[in-house]
Amino acid sequence: MAKKADHLFGDLEEQLRFLKEIGADFVFRPKTGPKPSSRPSGPSAREEIMALHEKILRCKKCLLALGRTHAVPGEGNFEAELMFIGEGPGHDEDVQGRPFVGRAGQLLTKIIQAMKLERTDVFIANVVKCRPPENRTPHRDEVARCSPYLLDQIRLIQPRVIVTLGKVATDFFVPSASGMTSLRGQFYVWNGIQVMPTFHPSYLIRNEGNRGIRKMVWEDMQKVMALLGKK
Ligand code: URA
Ligand code: SF4
Repeated sequence: MAKKADHLFGDLEEQLRFLKEIGADFVFRPKTGPKPSSRPSGPSAREEIMALHEKILRCKKCLLALGRTHAVPGEGNFEAELMFIGEGPGHDEDVQGRPFVGRAGQLLTKIIQAMKLERTDVFIANVVKCRPPENRTPHRDEVARCSPYLLDQIRLIQPRVIVTLGKVATDFFVPSASGMTSLRGQFYVWNGIQVMPTFHPSYLIRNEGNRGIRKMVWEDMQKVMALLGKK
């Protein structure tokens, strides 16, 4: 019991420290319990998503199937208003079969919590569902083979906002020769859905000393919160 409490306080302390660091400590307020979902999608959407995920686990449509331990369909709330989309599974994700569970994932989790949300409130997925060797960027044909899965997930979940993490995910929705620095921070409309590009959490980790980048990500997430009425 005491151990559990210690663990909890440790987590809280860490979250507060992170919020302070990105200049968002004012958002720290107690949770008020689960929010009712305003957009019920019927049981058939849920069943379709589960069937889709089963299909992804068995998929061999591209060569990435050969190197994977587990395909990583994605996880979260099937009725989420907000989706986060990354590039593809890394080592930890491949081992566990879950998206964003490694170091970048822990940072993404903190970002989600800073937005007064939990991972279970949102849906987290990737452009490709199997890990590219040595974490290389997925090839164009791999993205092309895998993208019907992501498109189906979006069609079934019907999010209001998609946050694209990094260039690969951003390119999928907002193809452009521009870099993330100029693309981030503004909404683009894709099939009626608001898309907010921001830096990939791995980029934040690679530039750990650079508070400016974290601040930009936080600014982007504040825009998302404002749009969702969470600010
Ligand atoms: N990076 C990604 O793009 N996706 C993950 O799931 C983990 C790390
Ligand atoms: Fe299938 Fe996508 Fe995995 Fe390729 S990356 S094998 S298309 S699930």
